[in-house]
Amino acid sequence: MDAAPNCAICNAPAYSECSCESERLQIAVHQAEQRAMEARLAEIRDWVIAHARMHILGAFERLKTTRKQAHSAYLASLPYYTVYMQYSGHPPIHPMAIAQLQAQIGEAHAELKRGIDADWRASVLRYPEVLDYFYSLVEVRMPSDRSPRVREPPFAVAGYADRGYDHSRLEKEMKKRKQRREREGSVGLREDQVYSAVGRHLRGPPPVPTPPVGGGYPPPPGRYNY
Ligand SMILES: [Zn+2]
Repeated sequence: MDAAPNCAICNAPAYSECSCESERLQIAVHQAEQRAMEARLAEIRDWVIAHARMHILGAFERLKTTRKQAHSAYLASLPYYTVYMQYSGHPPIHPMAIAQLQAQIGEAHAELKRGIDADWRASVLRYPEVLDYFYSLVEVRMPSDRSPRVREPPFAVAGYADRGYDHSRLEKEMKKRKQRREREGSVGLREDQVYSAVGRHLRGPPPVPTPPVGGGYPPPPGRYNY
């Protein structure tokens, strides 16, 4: 006798190769991944962004300081600059010399601004590389396959036997609905409708299915070896 179980979702025989189980598994994996990883990924993202930003800003500030020092040194080297500053822009020198100095100062300021803008653009363009670097420092560690916690998870040592419906909860729920119906005198669900509705509710979502062979996952041991 073929003891391979039917599809857990649509009950098709094992040889029918329906895709429900692998589809449900993909959904379950996606949901589990969100539950397990979302908060951690957000934490990692914040850490990476903070450090990348700190690095970029720090590097840019150093460039800016160097440029400003060079700028100041250049201004100080201009003829009449010191006296021009002493007289707050109105030194007792020939107007031609003042005009020329003002043109040189204006050009130097514009050059400083262009340089700072270019440095900032160049710094920001390094973000992809810098983000890669900080992400690469984050370690994701898998436990050893020989670890007892991997080999013997702390649940279902015997396996997952079907336990059917929880009839005590079901009966309580039906009683509650009957009382409510009597109280409200309204048209409610018939008992059999309540049963199926409650049954669906108590069963909850189907268990994470074992994927069929060939669904992109290795077959778990046991499924076809009864
Ligand atoms: Zn199926």
